[in-house]
Amino acid sequence: MRRLLAGNWKMNGVHGALAEIRALNRAYANAPPPADLLICPPATLIAEAVKVASGGPVAIGGQDCHAERAGAFTGDVSAEMLRDAGASWVIVGHSERRQYHGETDAMVAAKAKAARRAGLTSIVCVGESEREREAGSAVAVVEAQLKTCIALELGASDIVVAYEPVWAIGTGRTPRPADIAEMHRAVRAYLSERFGNEGASVRILYGGSVKPENAAEILAVANVGGALIGGASVKAADFLAIAQAVPKR
Ligand code: PEP
Repeated sequence: MRRLLAGNWKMNGVHGALAEIRALNRAYANAPPPADLLICPPATLIAEAVKVASGGPVAIGGQDCHAERAGAFTGDVSAEMLRDAGASWVIVGHSERRQYHGETDAMVAAKAKAARRAGLTSIVCVGESEREREAGSAVAVVEAQLKTCIALELGASDIVVAYEPVWAIGTGRTPRPADIAEMHRAVRAYLSERFGNEGASVRILYGGSVKPENAAEILAVANVGGALIGGASVKAADFLAIAQAVPKR
């Protein structure tokens, strides 16, 4: 399975940051990248990022969407608006949305359905808190999130799952490879139960403090179909170094 490296720029970047996408284009001007590449810039940059990325290997996505098509939802952006701006992907259920905007699993499911309606692929984020991991309930927590977040209307080709332990995001800490393997195995089992044979084709990303130094080890773990990368995606040099670490298989 070809891996996906998805960059989440979070609330970082004004127009000058588009130079990083130009740098990614240049790096792969003569040879294709070793993985599918996606950058999710802030909403204000999406349309321009799509223009800059055009003709190159980098797809552009949003970081969130509202579940409704349009309406009195000041400050929000719909999946249709992302699509209109040229995005082809959207992240839903990121832990920062859950933490700072009170998003629930049911809301994440509604957003993923909206993404499908608009023709976008969703990156559905799940992951346990540190307390839940210490209590030994990490797998159960993630399974419960998957059950609700992956709405019944969704098909295997509508989504990618990102396993992001909340305590690993932006902290420089990562789970042990054995713990990543255990969780990705559990997510795969859930997807197979849910989608049958097609469950094997859903990419399961790992996210949380992926950087050039740990990317090779993490990306080699069984069932890791790529990475969702925050801090290390903002600079093309780091993102490229992670791409170079993709194991050949
Ligand atoms: C993220 O934003 O999804 C993320 C994993 O951030 P970081 O790589 O900075 O931990």
